[in-house]
Amino acid sequence: MAAGQPPYFGAAYYPEDWPLDQIDADIDLMKQAGMNCMRIGEFAWSRMEPEEGRYDFGWLDTVIDKLGAAGIATILGTPTCTPPSWLYQRYPECIAVRDDGVRLEHGARRHACPNSSAYRDHCRRIVTAMATEFGQDSNVVGWQIDNELYLVRGLEDHRGCFCDECVGKFRKFLQERFGTVEAINAAWGTDLWSQTYQSFEHIPPPRSGTWHHPSLLTAWSLFQADSYVDFADDQADILHRLASQPVGTDMTQCSDREPDARRWGDAVNLGKRSPKGVIGRVDRRFCPRFYGAGRRIEQDTLGCGGGGVIRAPEESSMAAGQGSNGKSRLTDLLRFVYLPLPVA
Ligand SMILES: [Zn+2]
Repeated sequence: MAAGQPPYFGAAYYPEDWPLDQIDADIDLMKQAGMNCMRIGEFAWSRMEPEEGRYDFGWLDTVIDKLGAAGIATILGTPTCTPPSWLYQRYPECIAVRDDGVRLEHGARRHACPNSSAYRDHCRRIVTAMATEFGQDSNVVGWQIDNELYLVRGLEDHRGCFCDECVGKFRKFLQERFGTVEAINAAWGTDLWSQTYQSFEHIPPPRSGTWHHPSLLTAWSLFQADSYVDFADDQADILHRLASQPVGTDMTQCSDREPDARRWGDAVNLGKRSPKGVIGRVDRRFCPRFYGAGRRIEQDTLGCGGGGVIRAPEESSMAAGQGSNGKSRLTDLLRFVYLPLPVA
């Protein structure tokens, strides 16, 4: 049987968390729920690459084949928001530095630096390996880059990473936009309270605990947001080159960790520059009633399409009572609807 056809209704599925012999029972549940698509893989880096350079896609291949045989398509997530422990041990520079200068520990997710050259190299490697393995698989109908791109959490808020590479790239970012330090001083009105800078090297990363110029804070946030767009673009380039399926990503709820919705929109609309289109996830968190940094988040900005948007129900009755307490492997993610979208 061919994998499901659009529109896709499904859930996030984490077969790496469960014994593989349960998959048939899981598929039965999916079929009972009328699902025809699963999103898998986006947190499974350590299973796909148990040690550096040794890839294991056999288990993932088995899952995708079994789903496909049941008429259930797969959207594959790249696992880059969950770097494995060996990467942290061998390349600590991949991991983000908090705004007080402390490097984060290995942990659950979203603790790597989007600007780390070493991390970007390893991300390109795992994405290339995945795209080579699954880029022509007819049961895979789309790619999700990373998962819920947002700024690394610091002491006070989601201010992003403060490692040396980030600070250096931030000053370059300012130099490209303003040209001279005198132009920054003029634009930001730094004579107030003796904040005038004498060189780009004097412009500090806005660590917590200090009162910072609002324009510095804004520029830092924009730089960090752009870093994630660039990070996602890196993976999109690989996937567009090696895979035949549409490419997209997903977003978390809109909040102060996402300082510029339009930039996030750039990240989601990766498929605009590809004839293969983009695949978008629609759920209640993508509804336009959410606001970020005072801006209304438009559905089409988030890659969910313009007219004719299909909206998932606010709550799935099947999800009611299940929550995320482990009672079911099909928990609170039942309300996803995936759409292949036309290229703008
Ligand atoms: Zn960094």
